[in-house]
Amino acid sequence: MKTIQQAKELLQALPRQSLGFYPTPLHRLERLSGQLGVELYLKRDDLSGVNLFGGNKVRKLEYLLGDAVAKGCSTVFTYGATQSNHAMQTAAACRRCGLDPVLYLVSVVEPDPAQLRSNLLLDHILGAEVHIVPIRDGETEAQAEDRAARMGRDQAAGLEAAGTRCYDIPMGGASPIGSAGFVAGWVELQEQLEALGIQADVLCHATGTGGTLAGLAAGRALLGDATRILPVAVSPKDAGYEARAAALANDTLALLGAEERVAPGDLVVERGYYAPGYEVPNRTGSDAIRLLARTEGILLDPVYSGKGFGGMLDQIRTGAIPQGSRVVYWHTGGATALFAEAAMVGDVV
Ligand SMILES: *Cc1c(COP(=O)(O)O)cnc(C)c1O
Repeated sequence: MKTIQQAKELLQALPRQSLGFYPTPLHRLERLSGQLGVELYLKRDDLSGVNLFGGNKVRKLEYLLGDAVAKGCSTVFTYGATQSNHAMQTAAACRRCGLDPVLYLVSVVEPDPAQLRSNLLLDHILGAEVHIVPIRDGETEAQAEDRAARMGRDQAAGLEAAGTRCYDIPMGGASPIGSAGFVAGWVELQEQLEALGIQADVLCHATGTGGTLAGLAAGRALLGDATRILPVAVSPKDAGYEARAAALANDTLALLGAEERVAPGDLVVERGYYAPGYEVPNRTGSDAIRLLARTEGILLDPVYSGKGFGGMLDQIRTGAIPQGSRVVYWHTGGATALFAEAAMVGDVV
């Protein structure tokens, strides 16, 4: 078990680029807390920077691009869906570091180049090299993702042969180096809670690739905190998801040179709130978006933070999170999706 100071020293050994505005605010939602009967705090990673459209990927990118710069790379490859927050934040962060972003984006429906929206529009404004990878007949989304990763690696190999050093970031920035950013996030939150003289009973967030969850779990193991982490899935997760997130957390702890470890049984992901699927809106998410907007003026998104927040609200209302609990919701950003294709936004007004 480490102190906050010791944890910071371990993190300082990793190369890092300063990209976001940290610490991001932590504040209490007064009106909603009163309505729900819990003490609800919001951790505002939606305000992380680099620009108006921040989010949770910026923390990971501080360490990922730190590594890229330390290795002398000039071009950065990453992957995601056509409206990927991670891809857009990577493009913005690359520009901040003077790096060239190359994005391989898997599309279920090919986007209309004459009507670029949301993150895909931002990717183009940022001047990223964008490759759209349509899903082929008979191919699953996962198979298309694997194909996109191979296409990126092939292009990078060609560039490397011609003398351009390339850096590869997996989907969501979910790697030990990326997750180190959320170890730093956990430490940052504990410092803020300590300054307020309080401890959190539950920390809730939306989980996709699991890179954020792995970092948070690693941070909790490192500091030995008792806070329960409640990850809400935004897409189908197989039975091995928790074990893979724990393995990523442990690789992250090993990278930091820490001997603490996360047991797969320490992580339990809520799978009840994403249906019908990733990037497909539902009632849980839409209701949560309207509620937070109309109670506190704060915006969630239909793909991630709306479903995550909605899942947490359900757990509070059913008593699975007991009345009087102190709950932190980690706002991971993503509200650009409110300006994406109507089919992704859903029934939010
Ligand atoms: C990527 C993302 C997440 C999920 O983070 P992972 O580290 O991939 O699990 C949650 N919310 C938003 C808005 C995101 O863009």
